[in-house]
Amino acid sequence: MTVLLLGGTGEARALSQRLTGLGVIASLAGVTRKPKPYGVPTRIGGFGGANGFRSFLKDEGVTAVIDATHPYAAQMPQRASAICGEMALPYLRLLRPAWQPQSGDQWQEVATLAEAAAILPTNSTIFLATGGQSADHTKALHAHTIWLRRVDDTGPAPWPKGGMIVGLPSNDPQVEAALLQRHGITHIIAKNSGGPMGYAKLDAARTLGLPVILLSRPPIQHAPVTTSLDTAESFVKAHAS
Ligand code: NAP
Repeated sequence: MTVLLLGGTGEARALSQRLTGLGVIASLAGVTRKPKPYGVPTRIGGFGGANGFRSFLKDEGVTAVIDATHPYAAQMPQRASAICGEMALPYLRLLRPAWQPQSGDQWQEVATLAEAAAILPTNSTIFLATGGQSADHTKALHAHTIWLRRVDDTGPAPWPKGGMIVGLPSNDPQVEAALLQRHGITHIIAKNSGGPMGYAKLDAARTLGLPVILLSRPPIQHAPVTTSLDTAESFVKAHAS
């Protein structure tokens, strides 16, 4: 009995540490150059589409899938839940709850970066905290100054004004506030990823009175969902040997 753990998040890694020694294979998409190790055997890279995923499940004798991908992973959860339904395999999504606004927050939600561009005042200076993958989708924002934070250094920014900020988010709101002030940021664009990592910039925005534009999460598919690591662990233990 082998359970497939779809990962790429801190929760997936934390869950894997509870599953050492059980029949569990973790899977990562291969977007992070040096992913921190998981507590179970791990494969890296895409499955090669829906048919590749079906073949993987059959070839590895997978008996259940725990999907702990990121809340903004748009394709994998939809595919995994649909194919598990088709193959009558138990499926559970471990989903990180979204951040909720507090008093003093100036948050607006939009579906796309183009929608964000439409509500920005002219000559804004944007802190783009939507991840490195956004670097190729900034065209709608090029009238503004863009500072994009990314983990890996991939060279200079391809937009006319601003640049890249290479590094991980700090957990300290004061460090984040200093970064925002240093770059003269007027607006933050971010994902509502939830969890502790990345929240400090929203604390800093509240303190500095900066507006935040949050991209909407992809819709959740009709499939079982939990936010509890304990529930996810019990699910895996019921289906792995
Ligand atoms: P996605 O839109 O759901 O998936 C894109 C493609 O990546 C899939 O079609 C699949 O390729 C492959 N893939 C995704 N998750 C995989 C996994 N766990 N194992 C093997 N292949 C996987 O996801 P995404 O937004 O590109 O994110 C990719 C990975 O980064 C996910 O594992 C996610 O948890 C993690 N991540 C995403 C974000 C984010 O903001 N989107 C942030 C942090 C971490 P094939 O079609 O070839 O099978």
